Amino acid sequence: MASSLEIKNLHVSIGDKEIVKGLSLTVKTGEVHAIMGPNGTGKSTLSKAIAGHPDYTITSGDVLIDGKSILGIEPDERARAGLFLAFQYPAEIPGVSIANFIRAALQAKMGEGEELDATAYYKKLYQKMDMLQIDRKFTSRAVNDGFSGGEKKRCEILQMAMLEPRFAMMDETDSGLDIDALRIVSDGVNQLKGDALGVIMITHYQRLLNYIVPDHVHVMWDGRIVKSGDKSLALELEAKGYEWVKKELIKA
Ligand code: ADP
Ligand code: MG
Repeated sequence: MASSLEIKNLHVSIGDKEIVKGLSLTVKTGEVHAIMGPNGTGKSTLSKAIAGHPDYTITSGDVLIDGKSILGIEPDERARAGLFLAFQYPAEIPGVSIANFIRAALQAKMGEGEELDATAYYKKLYQKMDMLQIDRKFTSRAVNDGFSGGEKKRCEILQMAMLEPRFAMMDETDSGLDIDALRIVSDGVNQLKGDALGVIMITHYQRLLNYIVPDHVHVMWDGRIVKSGDKSLALELEAKGYEWVKKELIKA
């Protein structure tokens, strides 16, 4: 049976400023939803609030996985419930190798008293790296330390491949990528896509959606979803720009 991630009339504030102003969206495993919108409209705020970032206050509304609210639980428990966020700006962690970082993340996801088997871990890690066409040398480098934009995003996808979430929110995974890196990253996501994974792709540009084809496209404007459609909506946006949506809103 498909799992569902339900966002219900969500309001999010940073300090006393409301950024997300009543946003609702349901994503099922097996579906890819794109959220598009101009800069500053609250896309990153939405994803970070759902992941449980402490700077973002959810003032009303709810987020549920399979009917159970995740708002009362810590970010690590949300990850255990199946949530994953690929950051728009992944942090650099000098001194911590990718192999150790992902191992710690997997260990943290496991239950009390469970021990991650090292041999099985490396087998899985190398298998996923092969699938994503990542060089073995990559694992001994410190997380994102001096990485190019493309390498950072590939590191996010590798974490996602290893953590096997049910719901992945990918925040502007395409930003800062040249066309080759974009292709490698989207190939990776396309390999991970499937019945067991629901994806929210956040993107400013339509370009990424040529590679990762969404089932649904939503336009976010000033903290809300103001328009939804299928993949043709993304093409329409590319052709007409976000000002077109704004004009439609004013007319309505
Ligand atoms: P988007 O991802 O759509 O570009 P953001 O969610 O990053 O939009 O930002 C929405 C609004 O919230 C912007 O006005 C931005 O300046 C503000 N904002 C985002 N993060 C913070 C923060 N940590 N502190 C203060 N303001 C923030
Ligand atoms: Mg953003």
